[in-house]
Amino acid sequence: MPFRDVVNQHHAILLLRAAVRVARPAHAYLFVGPAGTGRRLLALGFAQFLNCQRPADGDACGECRACRRIAERNHPDVRVLDIANGQYLVPVGKDYKGKEIPIDQIRALKQDAYYPPYEGRTKVYIIADAELLSLGAANSLLKVLEEPPPNVIIILIAETTVPLPATITSRCQFVRCALIPTAEIERVLVERHGASPERARFLAALAAGRIGRAVAWAQSAEVLERRDRFLTHLVNMETADPLGRLDAAEELTRTKEQLPERVGELLEIAALWYRDLAVWKETQDPSLIINLDRRGEIEHWAAALAWDELARRIEATAAARDSLERNVQPRILLESLFFKITPAAARV
Ligand SMILES: [Zn+2]
Repeated sequence: MPFRDVVNQHHAILLLRAAVRVARPAHAYLFVGPAGTGRRLLALGFAQFLNCQRPADGDACGECRACRRIAERNHPDVRVLDIANGQYLVPVGKDYKGKEIPIDQIRALKQDAYYPPYEGRTKVYIIADAELLSLGAANSLLKVLEEPPPNVIIILIAETTVPLPATITSRCQFVRCALIPTAEIERVLVERHGASPERARFLAALAAGRIGRAVAWAQSAEVLERRDRFLTHLVNMETADPLGRLDAAEELTRTKEQLPERVGELLEIAALWYRDLAVWKETQDPSLIINLDRRGEIEHWAAALAWDELARRIEATAAARDSLERNVQPRILLESLFFKITPAAARV
């Protein structure tokens, strides 16, 4: 994952590259931006650039022993603390719940950091989800930041700076990671991950700037299957009787696992669907359609629904998203959405 593999974070890369060129990288960085924008890849790319045996053109080679071991998370000088993915600096106890970054992990970092690099030039510690540092862990980390060991760089990754103590953020150089343009995600899915143009179009739109999500989705059929199931229900609502509406809401909320996130995704899919109907109605231009693989249905429903009916569906979807944010029960919220999709029977 040298810098050239990181999609679109040109500004961040320029900054990191420049720091190494003038041989004055900061002791601590805070990579801040939405999850899924390549923050981890960028951190690993920076660690490679700092330790690469044959760097060229302002980037790591990606092939030397150091680069390979970093890519395999197997380099003794590049350590990742990522509790969401079970990567720790020292083993955690049996009763550890995984909710916050415990102080013993930072104590281990502190102990390790004062030894010189084992085989590379610079030791790099990457701490994902830095918002989850416990108070004790944050205080312990502060001590390292106040007396930074030589040849050590600590990279904190966070979505926002808000939950972090100012004592910590004030000692970090900020590197902002922006959302990735949809067209760029689409291109990467096709060129690097072998997705078909139809899949890439839809997944890129649904990912809303977070390329990490789109890439994960491209590697499994699950999201597309969920979309197909949901769109089938959504289209059925145009003709369903009341019992059919209740059944559909029940079926879609039967899973207990991460239900609000799942329903949030369904509402996003509904929004993209009605958006397609409106765009087709207005332009009849297939290059602007997101659900490319369902073009026939889009043509049909764009013609069948009058503008005011379509507007009502778009508003109902937006209202459902608001309800989700206000913690309305997912099933109730979907029932309410489905009952607002009143039949346009005359034109079907
Ligand atoms: Zn290399």
